[in-house]
Amino acid sequence: MTFDYDLFVIGAGSGGVRASRIASSFGAKVAVAEEYRVGGTCVIRGCVPKKLLVYASHFSEDFHLAEGFGWTVGETSFDWKKLIERKDAEIDRLNGLYINTLNGAGVEIINGRATVEDANTVRVGDKTYTAKKILVAVGGWPSMPDVPGIEHAISSNEALHLEEQPKRIVVVGGGYIAVEFAGIFAGMGSEVIQLYRGDQILRGFDDDLRERLAREMTGKGIDLRLGTNITEIEKTDDGVRLTLTDGSTLDADAVMYATGRVPKTEGLGLENAGVEMERGAVKVDAYSRTNVPSIFAVGDVTNRVQLTPVAIKEGHAFALTEFGGTEQAAEHDAIPSAVFSQPPIGTVGLSEAQAREKYGEIEVYTSDFKPMKHTLGGSDERAFTKMIVDKKTDVVVGAHMIGADAAEIIQGVGIAVKAGLTKAQFDATVAVHPSSAEEFVLMRNAKS
Ligand code: NDP
Repeated sequence: MTFDYDLFVIGAGSGGVRASRIASSFGAKVAVAEEYRVGGTCVIRGCVPKKLLVYASHFSEDFHLAEGFGWTVGETSFDWKKLIERKDAEIDRLNGLYINTLNGAGVEIINGRATVEDANTVRVGDKTYTAKKILVAVGGWPSMPDVPGIEHAISSNEALHLEEQPKRIVVVGGGYIAVEFAGIFAGMGSEVIQLYRGDQILRGFDDDLRERLAREMTGKGIDLRLGTNITEIEKTDDGVRLTLTDGSTLDADAVMYATGRVPKTEGLGLENAGVEMERGAVKVDAYSRTNVPSIFAVGDVTNRVQLTPVAIKEGHAFALTEFGGTEQAAEHDAIPSAVFSQPPIGTVGLSEAQAREKYGEIEVYTSDFKPMKHTLGGSDERAFTKMIVDKKTDVVVGAHMIGADAAEIIQGVGIAVKAGLTKAQFDATVAVHPSSAEEFVLMRNAKS
């Protein structure tokens, strides 16, 4: 049987673009369908615009620090509209680059929403296309809980396009997105109230980091309320009125939910081909294969690890395996990641609690210090590094940091943890002085 394409990719986000481009480089005839903008969540409404806003919001603190170093900072003001315009222009530029990359790689871009008709057929509008293999890379979408009045709430999607900067915003959730946006708005001068239903933010992260971030955020003026949720949202003339679980009410200009993201599989037609699902996500094996031999899936739609670089690795491994003649499974161990909170967090490997459960006997090294910049800068912000070592083998199984540049630092440490290096090998490395990163090779006293 002949097909229109060797590979039809649904979704031109991080995973889909990488898979398309690599498959095409091996000579495959590839098309990718995208219903919105090429680039996907990360580029269009996720990591990239978010990081630009993080940079923008940090200046308020930097101006203050500068004074401790002898600068006189004049009157400052912040223009939200200007920032959003400039951010949008940068996203347009990146969107263009992604389109060029696909064009340059010989991948055909089909604009429109694709649905699966059967194991080898995809429909976009009134056209159908056949393909030897189909890759589902449609990503995820913010999940909004079923609260009365939830239609008056925004998600991170809308937060990136607000017409006006909210003077008072309530952020709901305690995960990556909630802490990042709470920091963004607070840095820009909004009054921020963050509500989290559990007893500490960033569930799943190392407990020391969770506590320290909560302390730092509170210290920067964020009103973090734990064990609290919203039971009802009402629209008011100038914003929203929220009823909380304790019965009290709260007025704000906006309420933003960051309560997780779910695979965007609804209406995709996967059931037409008999693709097996697992809790709303496409079920795949280590090679991103579904139960249907011609259909594959990568990225957030599979809900393995919701991170852009993971989707890229999965897409690359898929293309190598299916079109490059090299079998490669996507690995999901020792994935370094960063939370662009203020201060940021960098983490790789296991938390203390996870390591204790897995290895039994562990050694924990910590270092708590005031970064040099803050000595003259006058900020109370502290940095903290932590390493977890399997006592039997001396292998470093977890490394964590909260403090300036944590994202930049953890990438290098991540290589060492992924390589399975021992604490002795970390210790044998000469420190870069003076830096915060050097703590990772200087920590000597294990906590019992
Ligand atoms: P997360 O899963 O990280 O956090 C969701 C938060 O919402 C949790 O605190 C959760 O509480 C809470 N929550 C869930 N349901 C409800 C509810 N019904 N009412 C109140 N609270 C609720 O999701 P995010 O939305 O923050 O981010 C989605 C994914 O995007 C992340 O998993 C991450 O992988 C990725 N991401 C990565 C970034 C990075 O790498 N820097 C940045 C942004 C996103 P509980 O803990 O009790 O379940």
